[in-house]
Amino acid sequence: MIDIKSLTIPEIEEFIQNLGQPKFRAKQIADWLGKGVCSFEDMRNLPANLITKLPQYCYISVATIEKKLISRYDKTVKYLFSFNDGECVESVVMKYHHGYTICISTQVGCRMGCTFCATGQQGLTRVLTSGEMLAQIETAQRDLGVRISNVVLMGMGEPLDNFSNVVKFLQLVSMKNGLNIGGRHITLSTCGVVPNIYKLADMGFQLTLSISLHAPDDEIRSRTMPINKAYNIEELMAAVRYYIKKTSRRVSFEYAMIDGVNDTDECANKLGRLIQGMLCHVNLIPVNSVKGTSYRKSNGDRLRKFTENLAKYGITATVRRTLGSDIDASCGQLKGKYREENKADDTKVRKIPNSVLKAE
Ligand code: SAH
Ligand code: SF4
Repeated sequence: MIDIKSLTIPEIEEFIQNLGQPKFRAKQIADWLGKGVCSFEDMRNLPANLITKLPQYCYISVATIEKKLISRYDKTVKYLFSFNDGECVESVVMKYHHGYTICISTQVGCRMGCTFCATGQQGLTRVLTSGEMLAQIETAQRDLGVRISNVVLMGMGEPLDNFSNVVKFLQLVSMKNGLNIGGRHITLSTCGVVPNIYKLADMGFQLTLSISLHAPDDEIRSRTMPINKAYNIEELMAAVRYYIKKTSRRVSFEYAMIDGVNDTDECANKLGRLIQGMLCHVNLIPVNSVKGTSYRKSNGDRLRKFTENLAKYGITATVRRTLGSDIDASCGQLKGKYREENKADDTKVRKIPNSVLKAE
C-alpha cells in the first residue's frame, strides 16, 4: 500500500498513469492533499470509478487526535496523535511572537537510547512516512484554526535515522499548494548521525541544524548518548563545520543541564574551547526529569555560571524558556503515560543494540 501523501506530483503522475488514468488527475489529487483532505470521497472532481479504485492501491495518512493537553500558563498545546495503524506519537504547538511553531515527531520511538530521554527508553517501533509528518501539522492547524509557520523536527525520534523520509518531508512541506513552509522556517535536531549531516549539508536546504550535544567530552557523552560510541565528538564537530561551510547557516547546540553530570565549571570551559569561533548558538535546557532516571535539573545559579563561563569564549548561550511545563511538553513523556494506561503491547517494541548503531 502506498502512502499517497508522501508522493511528489511527478510520483503521483506516474502512479496514476499506471492505473490507466490521465496525468492531469495527479495535480487534482495533489491539490486536495494540499488542502488536508483525508478521504478520496472528498476529492469531488475525481470520477467515481477512480474514487473506488484508489483505496485498493493507496491510502491517505492521517494523524488523529487521541489526547490534547493545553497548558494553563502559556497555551502551549500538546497532542498525542495516532496514525492509520494505531501507532502514536506526540507533537507540541507553541505560540511565539512571530507565529505558531510545531514540534513534530519523525519516528515512533527511537533506537538511539539517550539515557535522559523518555522516547529513548521506548526503543524504536517504526519510522514515520513523510505523509505522517505532514499530517501532524495539518491536523494541528485544522484543530487550532491557525496557520503554523515554523516547524521543528524535535519530537519523538531521530530525524537523521529516518533520512529518506525526512528529506522527502522537507521537499513536500515547502510546496506552494501545500503547507508552504520553507527551509528557513524549519529546524532539524539530531543527536549526531554524522554521515547524514554531510548528506544534508550537500542538499542545499536552508534549514537550521540543531545538534544535541549535551556533553563537552567523549567520556560524558558516551555515558549518556550511545551514538557517541559510533561517531565521537571530533567526528561530529568536523561534520558540523562542514555543514556551516556549505550552508553559511548558524547551527545551534542543545545542552541539557543535568545536575552534577555535565554542568560544572570544568564542563563549561571544555565546551567553550570545543566550539569557540564557530558560527553557533547554545541553548541550555534544564533537563526534564524522566521516570526511571535519577537525573535532576541544574539550579538557576549553575545555569547562570555556565552561561557566564561560555561568554568568556565569545559564545552566546540562552536558557531555553520551558513552555508547557505543566503538560509534560517535552516529547516522549505523554506517550509513556498513555502506554501505561492502555497497557500497550511492549512485545512490538524493538530495542536495537548499541553495537549496530549506524547511519541509514
Ligand atoms: N532525536 C533528536 C530530536 C528529538 S529529541 C535529537 O536528539 O536531537 C529533541 C531534543 O530534546 C533533543 O535536543 C534531546 O536531546 C532533548 N531531550 C531529550 N530528553 C530530554 C530531557 N529529559 N530533558 C531535556 N531535553 C531532552
Ligand atoms: Fe532519540 Fe533524540 Fe531521545 Fe536521543 S534524545 S533517544 S536521539 S529522541
